Amino acid sequence: MTFEEIGLKSEVLKSLKELGFEAPTPIQEQAIPYLLGEHSDFVGLAQTGTGKTAAFGLPLITKIDNHATVPQGLVICPTRELCLQIAKDLETYAKYLKINIVAVYGGTDIRRQMTEIKKGVAIVVATPGRLMDLIQRKAISLSSVEYVVLDEADEMLNMGFKEDIDSILESTPEHKNVWLFSATMPNEVARIAKTYMENPFEVSIGHKNQSNENIDHIYYMVKEKDRYAAVKRLIDFNPQIYGLIFCRTRQETGAVAEKLAKEGYSAEPLHGDLSQAMRDRVMDRFRSKDLQILVATDVAARGLDIDNITHVINYNLPDDIENYTHRSGRTARAGKKGESLVLINTRESGKIRAIEKQMRTTFTQGSIPNAEEICEIQLMKLINKVIKTDVREKEIQKFMPTVMAEFEDLSKEEVIKHFVSAEFNRFIEYYERAGDLNAQNSKDDRGSDDRSNRRERKSDGIESGKTRFFVSIGSRDGLNPGGLLRHICDATGLNSSNIGRIDIMPSFSFFEADDQYATEMVRQVNGTNYEGHDVSIEVTKVKSGGGSGHRGGGGARKDGGGFGGKFQGNRDGGQRREGGGQRSEGGGQRREGGFRSEGSGQRREGGFKKEGGFRSEGGFKKEGGFRSEGGFKKEGGSRSEGGFKKEGTGQRREGGFKKEGGSGSSDRSSSFGKPFKKKS
Ligand code: AMP
Repeated sequence: MTFEEIGLKSEVLKSLKELGFEAPTPIQEQAIPYLLGEHSDFVGLAQTGTGKTAAFGLPLITKIDNHATVPQGLVICPTRELCLQIAKDLETYAKYLKINIVAVYGGTDIRRQMTEIKKGVAIVVATPGRLMDLIQRKAISLSSVEYVVLDEADEMLNMGFKEDIDSILESTPEHKNVWLFSATMPNEVARIAKTYMENPFEVSIGHKNQSNENIDHIYYMVKEKDRYAAVKRLIDFNPQIYGLIFCRTRQETGAVAEKLAKEGYSAEPLHGDLSQAMRDRVMDRFRSKDLQILVATDVAARGLDIDNITHVINYNLPDDIENYTHRSGRTARAGKKGESLVLINTRESGKIRAIEKQMRTTFTQGSIPNAEEICEIQLMKLINKVIKTDVREKEIQKFMPTVMAEFEDLSKEEVIKHFVSAEFNRFIEYYERAGDLNAQNSKDDRGSDDRSNRRERKSDGIESGKTRFFVSIGSRDGLNPGGLLRHICDATGLNSSNIGRIDIMPSFSFFEADDQYATEMVRQVNGTNYEGHDVSIEVTKVKSGGGSGHRGGGGARKDGGGFGGKFQGNRDGGQRREGGGQRSEGGGQRREGGFRSEGSGQRREGGFKKEGGFRSEGGFKKEGGFRSEGGFKKEGGSRSEGGFKKEGTGQRREGGFKKEGGSGSSDRSSSFGKPFKKKS
């Protein structure tokens, strides 16, 4: 089928031609003819990247009266980014129709949007919260709305817009058409379809909860402490990566991005703690490929609408399988191929099976590349770069006699070896000490005792170096392992790698966390509230305490309170001692937070970093600069938006890890590296 045969206006066909849209995508082929018909309630199960915006946008601009001055078309979507993107797409499609299209979204001046609406508008593209605000201020009339599009309905419900969506739909005329698009079909989406639609025509691109076939899903099994090192290897092994790394919490997102940036990768965080202006800047840089890697939370990445993302890396698995669908769907858009890489620990393989089952997809188990594999990739990249380098004959001419004289005694092979080694030795140095990061398979899911796990467990059944806590709520209170993990991380500012085994019982639960956090853990978590339930925890000792009584002594452990100056620094008015802590604790006690393992990691990388590194080239604008400057200046500068500038530049110029620790400590942004956040 062609666009001409579908029945679109000639003006629309003209803009499609200009856009280079030759033929409709599968969702367009099925949706457009139906939506152009008489009555048309519609459910489209499709991911972003399938062409769904045009699937509803083209019929919408064809059907509405383009002279309308009160909204006839209403598109509701979850995020500001998506809102702007949809409005822009509709304007492009309607270029020759002169339709007034207005985007209304939060985080920006409402009065300007009110003025635009007043001037007359035929199509409003809105986020739910802002639209509700406008309705309540009586700044918009929805009485003439004939078409309501709910885009990414599952995302909107995930984000808690259920009530807003209900109110908005109830504020529109009864005999409207509702066109609903969603990547997945949870019960709540089905409820909306049932409540507000009459016999909707349903089109599904792929299975309901199925992921795009162009995505390769690969999981890697690593030890908890190796997660970060494994991510770095995956990036090093894919030097052209244009990727998204997903983390579970804002803290983890910030910490991973900061560590990557400090080590010279072109990476920045995107999460809710950043101001809108900061998020816009990061997004602009990522969109323009000025930034190679975006480290994001699920919420912050919602509506992210960027083609050509090559890799999605799941630093941790999300708690909800649906979120995995959304995460992985950020790659392999518009018919391209992409990879979704997942790091799991030895107890999480059950989660992979669950995703496979629900998404009807298959994961392959990958192997974290070893030193030799990475060195080979990087060596080939270097050689390609050398071969492709423009030789500035004129400029170099006058130096050539001296240069040639210097090389006189070397054969061609020797010269090449020297040039290659000048760039390449740092890799070899870095990776020669790098061991295998692949962990052994475990049979069971989280909570099981595989052999390696057992080895690490003390006689009381608690993993060595960990304290076990009793939690006053359980599954009957709606608690699940992911929920508990999130709750602890949110309450304490720790990240998931500090937390070990989790056991959820019907009316109480247990979890393990690194020993040194024991006392503060109790202080920070006690008195918090989990979905309406008061949470209290106490230190327990399973098994050694005898019998089935899970509640142990409850007193302070001998190692409790081992936060050193770090935590104190935080609580005492947010003084940032983390950086100093990072250095002094480099070889020391901390299992996480980038302190012990990163400490040593940074040391190893110090030498490698100072030369400039291999990570940031290859088609990414800044990196072009980096090559000619022979340093990271540009990157460092660009990072200033994320608060990294001083550290980044300083550390790179100095090169050595010692300086790095020092400079990092004083300039560090307050949101990073805190083992615990201040309790409010
Ligand atoms: P969407 O799923 O709406 O986010 O669209 C994904 C990408 O596909 C966007 O960059 C669209 O511009 C592009 N696209 C949509 N429909 C077509 C088409 N029929 N032919 C070529 N590209 C398209």
